[in-house]
Amino acid sequence: MVLDVEWAERWVRRTAESVARAKDELTELDRQIGDGDHGENMDRGFRAVIAKLDEPGAPERTEVGDVLKLVATTLMSKVGGAAGPLYGTAFLRAAKRSARTDVDRAGVVVLLEAALEGVTSRGKAEPGEKTMVDALTPAVEAATAAADGGAEPAEVLAAAADAADAGSRATIPMVATKGRASYLGERSAGHEDPGARSTALILAAARDAALDPAADGAGEEAPR
Ligand code: ADP
Ligand code: MG
Repeated sequence: MVLDVEWAERWVRRTAESVARAKDELTELDRQIGDGDHGENMDRGFRAVIAKLDEPGAPERTEVGDVLKLVATTLMSKVGGAAGPLYGTAFLRAAKRSARTDVDRAGVVVLLEAALEGVTSRGKAEPGEKTMVDALTPAVEAATAAADGGAEPAEVLAAAADAADAGSRATIPMVATKGRASYLGERSAGHEDPGARSTALILAAARDAALDPAADGAGEEAPR
């Protein structure tokens, strides 16, 4: 499986489907420790991304970075709150590092590292502060280990997705010290961070777009 511009488009479409399915779950998580808009924010953002992707007469996209840049600019303009600029910066940095027709195993690591750098340069969160960084950091580490071990690009993505899922669950006992959830102090413990969960969904979509290119994505990710 070559991770080319078509993979990138499938990734984005699957993310939009997955986020739409998880909209209520993300909103509920954000209601517990934030203001209850994360599902709505992400769904609105990725719907707008798909509308852009499908716009007639758009210039031809040949590089993985072309698709990621479209995601970045759309999320930045359509998603308010913390998540829009954070994910916008993540996708923009990833786009700049994937100006190529396909990404190999090392390219997957570079893409994920760039995304993490984007989030941390914008949000200044470190691991353990109960944010999306707690999903993305273990994803980068697992992807690096998989790539160093010679895994195929799709397997590198699978390692990243699994680690992001575990990382998101690991935010449950954490006390938030960044973002809106930090206003709750100790009371933020006991809930999964919504942004970490959406990061896990985005990376699961990247994996599925690589491992199972034919399926339309419907019905995956059984409710938890
Ligand atoms: P808002 O908090 O403005 O309502 P969202 O609800 O869309 O925005 O997004 C909340 C998510 O954003 C949090 O769950 C967290 O993962 C992430 N987040 C908030 N602040 C930061 C930060 N400084 N660094 C990284 N991620 C952050
Ligand atoms: Mg919110």
